[in-house]
Amino acid sequence: MTEQGFTTALLHSDRQQPDQYRAVHRPMHTSVAYAYTDPADLIKVFQGSQSGYVYGRQGNPTTAALEIKINLMEQGIASACFATGMAALSASFLALLRAGDHIVASAFLFGNTNSLFATLGTLGIEISFVDATDCDNVAAALRDTTRMVFVETIANPRTQIADLAGIGELCALRGVLYVVDNTLTSPYLFRPAQVQAGLVVNSLTKYIGGHGNALGGSVTDTGLFDWQRFPHIYANYRSADPKLWGITQIRKKGLRDMGATLQAESAHRIATGAETLALRMDKTCTNATRLAQFFSTHPAIARVYYPGLSEHPQHQRAKTLFKSFGGLMGIELRVDLDRLAFLKQLRVVICSSHLGDTRTLAIPVADTIYWEMGAERRRSMGISDSLIRLSIGIEDIDDLLADFDQALAAA
Ligand SMILES: *Cc1c(COP(=O)(O)O)cnc(C)c1O
Repeated sequence: MTEQGFTTALLHSDRQQPDQYRAVHRPMHTSVAYAYTDPADLIKVFQGSQSGYVYGRQGNPTTAALEIKINLMEQGIASACFATGMAALSASFLALLRAGDHIVASAFLFGNTNSLFATLGTLGIEISFVDATDCDNVAAALRDTTRMVFVETIANPRTQIADLAGIGELCALRGVLYVVDNTLTSPYLFRPAQVQAGLVVNSLTKYIGGHGNALGGSVTDTGLFDWQRFPHIYANYRSADPKLWGITQIRKKGLRDMGATLQAESAHRIATGAETLALRMDKTCTNATRLAQFFSTHPAIARVYYPGLSEHPQHQRAKTLFKSFGGLMGIELRVDLDRLAFLKQLRVVICSSHLGDTRTLAIPVADTIYWEMGAERRRSMGISDSLIRLSIGIEDIDDLLADFDQALAAA
């Protein structure tokens, strides 16, 4: 996507590939098997000297068309799609890491990713959780065995923003793989390649798909990491261009062997949703900014966490790096108010655990999504019992303002 704009390139990407009927959408290919009249061709596809499809678990033309779109958005060299965002993360980690390796990860993480790291710990992979808003903490945690640094762009639910650029420089200098989960910003607001990330993960379930009707995940190789410096690439995958070693191993070991394949129907829904990512994001960010201002002056609200507010500790960083400040927000009601009564009173806003939807969603976090990790870890992540996470949608702003206003009055 060198000359065309973000949305134009997405809208016309399917037409760049040949199609039997000139369809503007890639058809939904549900076939598991692919028939070859000449066995020599099948052999070539298996051995990688010819492109093609052999079995649905390893991909199909519909998911491949989505991979092209993800790649356009992230401006990577190759992308692979998975059944969910968690599948993309777990497959990548398990494909690339081994017992004895060390990871440095942000202490402020999506709850299930935090839980996944705990599982990796039981497999002999050590994890250091650090406050990644300060790059010095990451630098201090690096060891000879550190194979990966992992951060998210905007942390959920307190909206801390890691020193994305500083960590990128540090990883480049030290030759460590830098993996960025771009879900909360989406490639429309931020491209992690700009801060030298080697791999970019997106939960397609969130803003990219955007409509809460399909699960999906992706991994993009930006081409910036030198895989020749990575000790765990299997001999089989070292025959190709070194730039493709990492994504090839993720595809073979992570997607093919672990099997969390994205279904064609989901890929189609996500691809359709992605066409309006820029429009939805612009509206989401405008709504979120207006709501953050409303909450920050409302007497029932004790605190607002939103990177768009000038008092946010990383406001300047967000302003420099991101096109806008996203749709995720944390609010704390005054302690004498009943947060469950507030949530129960909402009429437009939905009480739900999802985020990145067209609809505005709210959830009390300590009792739900961050319940399993326990009070101590919640405290260390700065998650108070009264914190409510909001994922702002694209509704008409007056309806959102009126709904929050009446619900706060009821609390
Ligand atoms: C939702 C989410 C994931 C996981 O994605 P799923 O598609 O739900 O599996 C990973 N990272 C972040 C930051 C998320 O918000």
